[in-house]
Amino acid sequence: MCNLLSGLPNMNSLLEHPLFTGVGTERVKQTAREVLDELRGDILTGKATTLPDLDECAELISARLNADANNLRGLINATGIVLHTNLGRSPLGTDMFAAAAEVCAGYCNLEYDLETGRRGSRYSHTEELIRKLTGAEAAMVVNNNAAAMVLILSALAAGKKVAISRGELVEIGGSFRIPEIIEHSGAKLVEIGSTNKTRLSDYIEAVNNHGAEVLLKVHTSNYEIIGFTESVSVPELAAYAKSAGLPLLYDMGSCYLTDPEQLGLPAGETARSGVAAGADVICFSGDKLMGSVQAGIIAGDEELIAKIKKHPLARAMRPDKLTLSVLETSLRLYKYPDEAAMRIPVLAMLRASPSELFSRSTALSNLLNDCLPNWSIEVCEIMDETGGGSLPNVRLPGWGVSLRAPEMSVNELEYKLRRGRIPVIIRIQDDKALISVRTLQPTDDARLIQALQDIAKQ
Ligand SMILES: *Cc1c(COP(=O)(O)O)cnc(C)c1O
Repeated sequence: MCNLLSGLPNMNSLLEHPLFTGVGTERVKQTAREVLDELRGDILTGKATTLPDLDECAELISARLNADANNLRGLINATGIVLHTNLGRSPLGTDMFAAAAEVCAGYCNLEYDLETGRRGSRYSHTEELIRKLTGAEAAMVVNNNAAAMVLILSALAAGKKVAISRGELVEIGGSFRIPEIIEHSGAKLVEIGSTNKTRLSDYIEAVNNHGAEVLLKVHTSNYEIIGFTESVSVPELAAYAKSAGLPLLYDMGSCYLTDPEQLGLPAGETARSGVAAGADVICFSGDKLMGSVQAGIIAGDEELIAKIKKHPLARAMRPDKLTLSVLETSLRLYKYPDEAAMRIPVLAMLRASPSELFSRSTALSNLLNDCLPNWSIEVCEIMDETGGGSLPNVRLPGWGVSLRAPEMSVNELEYKLRRGRIPVIIRIQDDKALISVRTLQPTDDARLIQALQDIAKQ
């Protein structure tokens, strides 16, 4: 037993092991001590009868150091769902962070006017850019679009009756329900029309006979009513709101900041179209079709936006410098739409053509066939999705690779990929494990191959 104990690798040779280059000595030392103590204990109690050698010991320590890594971490989204809300919605690439890293590493002019040397406004960095991209008179940013809705309604509709179509009383992911948000904001809901049909006369009746003072339109982002339907378009409703002297608020949910047709993107509304249609205030998410950071963007009439900015809740929803910096960078990218289409990952993924995806799938499948000779690996057609409650009726024809490992069920493979060093989230369809290449980031292919090799080695 004592012989065994004296055979344990010593601390110095462990500290010098190549596995730990670049890792802080303090961390390695402390973790090594833990591991060595446990090994000693196992030897003394007879639980262990053989000793790990230096390399094996270093592996044990390294595994424990890795387990200390952050819980929130990157993974590979191979589902083909571009805006996957559970997987962080909009991937940002690396371009959008360069400025944020510098801004956030030190101090910054978040609320400081460099010209006057006095207090400035955190909204100032993005307001002009949003104004230009949407055509609105004024703008502000909050932490997400749900917050935007709560703030807009609290500032503009508290104590008032708000008319909204029954077809737009939606629930958006989890427990965000429009009717409840209206109530919480201190406004009173006036439901009009029916689930499938709402006419302009319904809005007029709500105003004339039920005292509605605010009109609300909500984009039914995550579902679509098909069949016998009728709804009032924003321009039509805006014309009426104007004639009645009432504000029209429009929650656009997910919208583009640039003309999708020009860039070969699936059809969808732009923020500019919402403003041009005559809505007095619009709001939308920063991390849906815009492809940026989580944020709620509010734009519209100058007086109304000023009122919203002054509301006490605005302080509780104000975005951090990290958000604002990434957002400003993305807004600046949109000045050059062709560049935005390439450098904003969500746009690049949405506009990837089937032939491009087919080539990528073929290349990936060839690589995988080379490293995993016993597996059954084939290129296959996959129907991808926009996700994130955006464009529910848009199908994105894509391509990918289907996998089958020898003597392993599809569910087992899915589990092992999910639990690997680099988690890979795949889709299971018709008892096949599918990897869609649309949502793979440029560096993902190599990591994916590594993850599959890890499983094959087990
Ligand atoms: C997604 C969505 C929201 C919520 O936006 P978050 O940015 O997720 O808070 C609100 N309204 C509509 C119509 C939406 O589609």
